[in-house]
Amino acid sequence: MSAQPALFEIEPSLRVPTRVGASRVTARRVKQILTKATGMVSGFDFTLNPYIGCSFGCAYCYAAFFQPDEAKAADWGNWVEVKENAVALVSQERRLAGAHVYVGSVTDPYQPLEKQTRLMRSLLEVMSELGPQPRLVVQTRSPIATRDIDLFQRFTHFKLNMSVTTDSDDVRKRYEPGCASIERRLAAVQRLSEAGIDVCLSLSPLLPVKDVESFAECIRASGARSAWVGYFHPGTRRFASGTRPNALTLAREDGWGFESYLDTVSQLRKLLPGMLTKSND
Ligand code: SF4
Repeated sequence: MSAQPALFEIEPSLRVPTRVGASRVTARRVKQILTKATGMVSGFDFTLNPYIGCSFGCAYCYAAFFQPDEAKAADWGNWVEVKENAVALVSQERRLAGAHVYVGSVTDPYQPLEKQTRLMRSLLEVMSELGPQPRLVVQTRSPIATRDIDLFQRFTHFKLNMSVTTDSDDVRKRYEPGCASIERRLAAVQRLSEAGIDVCLSLSPLLPVKDVESFAECIRASGARSAWVGYFHPGTRRFASGTRPNALTLAREDGWGFESYLDTVSQLRKLLPGMLTKSND
């Protein structure tokens, strides 16, 4: 008989496993659920993150820089904390009404744990009832998001950013081994788009692309309404987040420098006229 991970219950509706994959899971009560948006998302009023940490553990993840505990930052990808009182806080949060909110700035709200906790789903249910509703942008690289299409459709202003960082699943496995395949992400984008959801492809950080023409064709065929592109965060400024060093090592091995990135972006711009921007709002 295979061993099932233990579960503990925080609130009647929130079931939290003690592990997900190789990552440890714990729960934590937080004082605030909204954070004033700054830096790359300063065009928004607030950021909202249902979890602390992320079991996807992407090699380039800049979110680890926002983790004040050095041991946890170094162990990024191997632990997740569930904000156990997130639903109660959202229910009481008056600043959410009509606010422009970026969900998933330092975690993936649809990481595998979400299948069991359904925390993001509960948050969307509460927010969809607010008047006026918040204007949401949800950032993910997980096809689990398709589970909540019915809730996305309840919002007047809603956009989902799906990260698709390369056309090659071999490349994806090296930089994002914990994430879904590129094929599954593009299939999710197609499903979301067919359901009328405004999807933006986030080609950021853009990783090595094997065949630019066929990548552009996949992007066009996905049904996404827009796409934005970015290179690794340089991380050279004081107090600014930066790319984790293992991703920069992989990029060096791949010969993927800023020049290669610029060349690929220039080709994509020609193949996708008007679709590729540098904005995510
Ligand atoms: S999914 Fe996002 S938050 Fe999670 S490890 Fe990858 S880049 Fe970081």
